[in-house]
Amino acid sequence: MKVLIVDDSMTQRKMISEVIAKIGFKGGFLEASDGNEAIDQLGKNFRDICLVVTDLNMPNLSGDKFIEAVAKVPPLAKVPVVVVSIEGTQEKIDSIYAKHPGLAGYVKKPFTADELKAAISKFLK
Ligand SMILES: [Mg+2]
Repeated sequence: MKVLIVDDSMTQRKMISEVIAKIGFKGGFLEASDGNEAIDQLGKNFRDICLVVTDLNMPNLSGDKFIEAVAKVPPLAKVPVVVVSIEGTQEKIDSIYAKHPGLAGYVKKPFTADELKAAISKFLK
């Protein structure tokens, strides 16, 4: 299985995939640099994707809009989505969960390997 990493920063995508590999994930990675690319990747590969890790602030289509779009498509909505964002106030986190009740987790940047592991390890297969 694969993890889809959605972030407009290539450095962030690389860092996140390195941490996921380091915590023992043996599968592969797919990447997208905005919500539009993420929808495209997820639509093509959802059967092989065990987890989506997404940023919120991205050009073209934000993480927020991406999560909203995915939630409306039943086969895609089954794939767990964890947000990894610099947006870290409790108010922001609460508002994202209120808008997206199916959200599988939320990790604040910068994160430690243990914090990311705690949020995502149950979805890795
Ligand atoms: Mg960003």
